[in-house]
Amino acid sequence: MSQRPIDPLSLVRPHLLELEPYAAVDPPEKLAARAGIAESELVKLNANENPYGPSPRVIEALANLHRVHIYPDPGQTAMREAVGRHAGVDPARVVVGNGSDELIDLLFRAVLPPGGAVIDSVPTFGMYPFTAHVCGGRTVRVERGPRFEVDVDAALAAAEREDARVIAVASPNNPTANATPLADVERLLSAGRLVIVDEAYYEFGGVNAADLLPAHPNLAVLRTMSKWGGLAGLRVGYGLMAPELADLLLRAKPPYNVNQAAEAALLASIADAELLNERAARIVAERERMCAALAELDGLDPWPSDSNFVLCGVPQGAGKALFEALARQGVFVRYFSEPRLADFLRISVGMSRDTDRLIEALSVR
Ligand code: PMP
Repeated sequence: MSQRPIDPLSLVRPHLLELEPYAAVDPPEKLAARAGIAESELVKLNANENPYGPSPRVIEALANLHRVHIYPDPGQTAMREAVGRHAGVDPARVVVGNGSDELIDLLFRAVLPPGGAVIDSVPTFGMYPFTAHVCGGRTVRVERGPRFEVDVDAALAAAEREDARVIAVASPNNPTANATPLADVERLLSAGRLVIVDEAYYEFGGVNAADLLPAHPNLAVLRTMSKWGGLAGLRVGYGLMAPELADLLLRAKPPYNVNQAAEAALLASIADAELLNERAARIVAERERMCAALAELDGLDPWPSDSNFVLCGVPQGAGKALFEALARQGVFVRYFSEPRLADFLRISVGMSRDTDRLIEALSVR
């Protein structure tokens, strides 16, 4: 009997067939090839990475990994204790993930019913709609105000109207770089939904929402080692939340979600927090120097930043061409096509020499 070949996509959950892929950044070798330059010539200011790289203690810890043939600790005991001490919270509140991206996924999977709504204060980080879609939920877009502040009244009204399970707020926000005041977070918490405060850029000028954890069991604060720790390539981040929720995520996550290299790197980074804080302070100082230099250039308008990147206004209609002109010169920044961001570039803070190359490339545009 001849069998008709099975279309594997007919087996897939239908909502995934329309999934818009997350617009991730390309690796350095691809960027360098596109610009026709050596990788060493690249000025990579498009992914808010840490230009200093990891602490030297991380390199040492990775060189001394001694039991990679053994599975990592599914209970994350050493990491949860270290993170708890570092963040000033009870380790029972800590869950570690394969990047903070995984915490977004674990939380959405835990709380979103099919079609369940996430209130998204846009423009913001693209992983919230992407992950909500993958999980079978949806995001409800609530526009931020004129200075990209969260419109708390509109977010609360949308949460009520849509019976949302989650309100997500990146603070400092990506790509607008501004932090959300704690009073606004407290108002959002009053709606009784899960409020996720994503503090990926906390160490560069954020506001510490973790202080609100004891009074608010519906709060989850996310942080990452990708930015402050310079570990974007190793994928490790953490969430701080009510112990009951942490316990549930620990049971529902893939058991060995954080590999031993990431674990060793996280522990070594926390042990070297003083150095990483110093580097963060240098990045903040470089950010201010970069803003001042950008503001000197005709038509450019850097907005205030609480992060390791700057949202810079450009002349109307010039965003894409400027992005492309910089890329041709080997300087990669981020351009977003969504209408409200069309006249901006997002520029990560690098080393002084990166700022100098950026300013030079902008001057000859
Ligand atoms: N949240 C925000 C706001 C981010 O900008 C990023 C990284 N671009 C992340 C989370 C993800 O970080 P991680 O590398 O820990 O997955």
